[in-house]
This record gives sequence, C-alpha cells and structure tokens, in this order.
Amino acid sequence: MPSHDKIHLIIRRQKDAASAPYHEEFYVPYRTNMNIISALMEVQKHPVNRNGEGTTPVIWESVCLEEVCGSCSMVINGKPRQACSTLIDQLEQPIRIEPLSTFPVVRDLVVDRQRMFDSLKKVKAWIPIDGTHDLGPGPRMAEKTRQWAYELSKCMTCGCCLEACPNVNHQSPFMGPAPLSQVRLFNAHPTGAMHKEERIEAIMGEGGITTCGNSQNCVEVCPKGIPLTTSLAHLNRQVTIHSFKAFFGSY
Ligand code: SF4
Repeated sequence: MPSHDKIHLIIRRQKDAASAPYHEEFYVPYRTNMNIISALMEVQKHPVNRNGEGTTPVIWESVCLEEVCGSCSMVINGKPRQACSTLIDQLEQPIRIEPLSTFPVVRDLVVDRQRMFDSLKKVKAWIPIDGTHDLGPGPRMAEKTRQWAYELSKCMTCGCCLEACPNVNHQSPFMGPAPLSQVRLFNAHPTGAMHKEERIEAIMGEGGITTCGNSQNCVEVCPKGIPLTTSLAHLNRQVTIHSFKAFFGSY
C-alpha cells in the first residue's frame, strides 16, 4: 500500500502504435514540490512495477519544463494538462496518467500531434514575407489589438483544447480550436491581414469552423488561458461577412 512517502501511479501504456494498451502501476518515492515529470523520472530511474517486477521504462515527451513548449500534454486524473506544471501535491491518488486520446499513440505517453500542424499549414498560420532583402520595420499594431493578440500568441500547440473538444476525434475532420484561434491572430496583424480572406476561406471548408459545436470545453482546459471561445465567435462573424461579400460580388 502507498504511504505518505510514496506516490501511487497508474499509467496507461502501449508498446507501439499497433499494440494494445494496458495499465501498469508504480509506487515512487515522494518528495515535496514534485511534478508529474519528476514522478515519471523516478519510474525511469527504477523501472519496477507495483508487483516488484522489472519492466520497461515509461516513455514520454517533454522539453522546456516551464509550460511553453506544449510537448508534455497528458490526461492526468481525467483532465488534459501539462505534466510539467501539474504538481503531485495538488492531485488525488492514485494518479492516473494516460496519453491524449485525440492523437495516435506512438509509445506509452508519446502521441503524434501532426494533425494540429497540418491544420496550421491549411489555415496559413504565418505571415509570408520576402526575406531576401531588408524590408524595414513593419507596420505598428494598435496597442489595444496588440494586447489581446499577445494572449493568442501564447498558444503552444499542446493539443489540450483538441482533447477536451467533443467534436475532435478520429472520425471527425474538425481542426479544433487552436488552429482557428491562430487565424484570428494572424488576421489581426497588419501584414498578416493581406492573406485574411484566404485564411477565412480555409476555415469555411471541411473540418472548419462550422464543425464547432460550441461546447466551450476548450477554454476551460487551455493551460495558457487563451480566450478560445471569443476567437471562435469572432471568426463566425468573419465567415458570415465573407459569405455575404462573396454572394454580392463585393470582392
Ligand atoms: Fe494548448 Fe491552449 Fe493552444 Fe489549445 S489553444 S493548443 S490548449 S495552448
């Protein structure tokens, strides 16, 4: 049985993309101020399961350890979140750790978030500029716009909002809230606005904004507190305006 000096982990594991998932339990030594990553590192150091049997080390992905890179997303006690900023002291035990279910599992807790990156490409979530010569300073953004745009720019493509969204799944082409919010961000930029209509058209097609069911789960789980539902409402208006202009031949 776990005592106050042990942490009880139940981890959903999978050997590779094709094999069946299973659960393995571990007790790891407790220290104050541990996060999920440090608990997983204890398993990696001493890969022996709850039954005292030697096992393979658990595999996960992490880079920055300060909630910026978005790579350590996992479902922890039922909630999608970042393993680096999830503290053991704030969790009920046993602690259940699973890979994000929205993305294909590569191994154990590592998933392939490629569908998010494909969506960012689809909506042109960048500002194309000719970098072959000095273009001089770009246009300035109004301070009020800069403030909310900065909040949207904090997206780290972690995938927690896609995991929480009931409309993002293996059967649905819905790109999810994060790429949509990036459309709002890049369309707000004075230079990015040159490709505003292309981005709006990209989110009007299959997997775009009309697949959003307005469940509002995304905004609840975003670790960066990005106002995703505000972005979605804004884009809905933009799509309507774009449709009217196209219908009346205003382009
Ligand atoms: Fe993660 Fe938030 Fe970006 Fe979604 S919007 S990918 S939850 S940082």
